[in-house]
Formats: sequence, structure tokens, C-alpha cells
Amino acid sequence: MLPAQVGWQSFSTRRSCGDDVGARRFTEREHPSAGFDKSRECATIFEKLNVAMKKLATHEQQAQFIKAVAHPTRLRILEILARGECCVCHVTAVLDQRQPYVSQHLMLLRGHGLVLDRRDGLMVHYRLADPRVTQIISLVRGVLTDAGFQAEVQPVPDGPVRGCSCPRCASQ
Ligand SMILES: [Zn+2]
Repeated sequence: MLPAQVGWQSFSTRRSCGDDVGARRFTEREHPSAGFDKSRECATIFEKLNVAMKKLATHEQQAQFIKAVAHPTRLRILEILARGECCVCHVTAVLDQRQPYVSQHLMLLRGHGLVLDRRDGLMVHYRLADPRVTQIISLVRGVLTDAGFQAEVQPVPDGPVRGCSCPRCASQ
């Protein structure tokens, strides 16, 4: 390869891979034996950029997160899931609500990354994506209690729930 061609390729690589993101520069001269794959290198840099972008939690994103938590039913669901993974029917039985209503809230929580689901045959199980969400609920309750409110705590049953046919309740 002619020196001029090497220079052009190096310039092209820097331009297309994003010189301004602190990405490591590769040139044919630095890696004479490399014959490196430019598209692969670019993909790696874009992956790094994506990770960096995901780390940006704007105020809008923070507000969306708080909005996802901010509903009486969803607060209760998060408290139930804090005890461990449950199927939809168990959450429905604890809340004593209709299943479509509960599923709607579970799907919203899942859409915001607050809960994760796992399908097992016909049953769908949910669990907290990050247990720290319960700390947020405790903090809110603590602030309200300190402000003079009496906290309304509806206990989450540890044992079997009446009317629930989930395997967990059936085995107890
Ligand atoms: Zn159950």
C-alpha cells in the first residue's frame, strides 16, 4: 500500500469512528500486521457510545421513572414483589382486583424496567428488576410519617392467599 493510501485510510477511520469521543485511534502504521476490521472497530465504539448514552439519566427520564412508581396499585404491586417472585394470579389475589387491571399495571412497570417477567408454561411470573425501588417507597413513607401522616400499611401475606390457585399457595 502506498503511504498516501495509508494516510487517507487513517483519516477516514478517525472521521467515521468519532474522533471526538476519545476513542482509541488505530492506523495501519501503528498496527502493521493488523489489517484490522474497520467496521468492527466502529461497532465497538458505537457500543461504547450507546453505553455512555444509557448512563445519561435526564430529569425527564427521572420524572418518567417516578411516574411509573406513582400509583397506589403499583406501589402495592412493588411491595408484593419485594417479598419474592410471584405469578400474576398471586398478585391479583393479594390485591383482590381483576386480573386484566393488575396485568395492565404490571405491564406498565415492566415497560419502565421496574419489574422483569418470566414465562413458565401458561403462567407469567414477575419479580423486581432492582430491589432498591422498595427503598424509594420506604423513604416516601418516612417523609410522610415525619410530616404527621399516619402511614397506611397493608401487610403482604406471607402464607397462602385465599382464592389463589398459584403453585406457591397450593403447596402451603
Ligand atoms: Zn398464590
